Amino acid sequence: MSLAMNDPATIIEADRAHVWHHLVQHKPFETIDPQIIVEGKGMRVWDITGKEHLDAVSGGVWTVNVGYGRTEIADAVRDQLVKMCYFAGAKGTIPGAQFAERLIGKMPGLSRVYYANSGSEANEKAFKMVRQISHKHYGGKKHKILYRDRDYHGTTIACLSAGGQQERNAQYGPFAPGFVEVPHCLEYQADNPGEGYGERAAQAIEDVILHEGPDTIGALCLEPITAGGGIIVPPKGYWERVQEICRKYDILLHIDEVVCGLGRTGTWFGYQQFGIQPDIVTMAKGVASGYAAISCCVTTERVFDMFKDDTDKMGYFRDISTFGGCTSGPVAALENMKIIEDENLCDNSTAMGQRMNDNLKALMDKHACIGEVRGMGLFQGAELVQSRETREPMDEKRVMAVVADCLKQGVIIGASNRSMPGFNNTLLFAPALIAGADDIDAITDAVDQALTRVMA
Ligand code: PLP
Repeated sequence: MSLAMNDPATIIEADRAHVWHHLVQHKPFETIDPQIIVEGKGMRVWDITGKEHLDAVSGGVWTVNVGYGRTEIADAVRDQLVKMCYFAGAKGTIPGAQFAERLIGKMPGLSRVYYANSGSEANEKAFKMVRQISHKHYGGKKHKILYRDRDYHGTTIACLSAGGQQERNAQYGPFAPGFVEVPHCLEYQADNPGEGYGERAAQAIEDVILHEGPDTIGALCLEPITAGGGIIVPPKGYWERVQEICRKYDILLHIDEVVCGLGRTGTWFGYQQFGIQPDIVTMAKGVASGYAAISCCVTTERVFDMFKDDTDKMGYFRDISTFGGCTSGPVAALENMKIIEDENLCDNSTAMGQRMNDNLKALMDKHACIGEVRGMGLFQGAELVQSRETREPMDEKRVMAVVADCLKQGVIIGASNRSMPGFNNTLLFAPALIAGADDIDAITDAVDQALTRVMA
């Protein structure tokens, strides 16, 4: 490659001319430069202009749990690729077997790992398992999949069919049949505060089940904490009751850990915060922290056994992901898990998450526009409002001005689900789990300064 090809202006022009970026309107790129990130180390990244940023969103979408520049992951991946890069189908690989065993060690009650490449794909696998179980064991009747308002499960048409976020779904229909929405636990907050609220919120799910007919419902798919839909931690009593309801009606409980998995909330998996036992767990982002593309759909032995039947020629799980055979994924995931263990990153997520929550709550004294601070571990949100009494959301332009001001200060933060009515206004923080007290304080100081300027 010639020197000119690496020149920042040439790269920026190539990007502007040919890259279709995710999740963004491209019209502004006619006048402003797309930002190109060229290097990362720990919590920090550098863009092509040389500017340093403190990354409070782990690579934009809460993925790089162990931070940037981990040579141990890169070295392990390199060594593995030279030895044995790929084999798929019925044959296994050494890292595939090793990571599955290590992962199951963190998930008592679950026993089988199905490899794929993205969170959406892992969820698709789960949906297909539920549909096939319905055909094989329930005469095709128990085929419906329940999902929750405000939860997100991915970008494919089936995942959007199970998606409760209007912003993501609009203009992509028609959707797949057999997906039924249940209300979010948040809906009940205003009407029914106090004791028993969690149980009542779960009751809303049972009401839908009874309305649809329990024998038509195969699975309930939920995020442990609603992530992109506004960082909503379910109330006390909710999860226990949800699990009881699933057991009562023989409905598989599918937990989407794509965001919350691998230490994000302070335990290995988000569902472990609530003491429940799912039948299917899907995960992606933090599994290899973005060093390789890997996702997993993990099931109980009971679910797996429902496909083990050589009297039915069509009875096995007739599914494949070509790149589920890449060894780069599980070998990166093994090193990633080792780092989380060796550096106690689950505990650090709890401690630093608490610090961030405390810092953001302290800002509420100074900034009346912060309506609520919520989250778990290093997944925290600050909801911006016009008034704490009415909780009317701050308008989106101002919210994005806060995000832009932080960026100017060299701190990358996020904002969740901007166009969802009433919930388009939550500043989102999901830094790498290696964050130290200084990093957390620098992030919340930047928010303080941004709010002071934007609200002036
Ligand atoms: N599930 C949840 C909870 C997510 O937040 C996401 C992505 O943000 C997905 C699934 C989809 O993951 P992917 O983008 O890897 O397909």
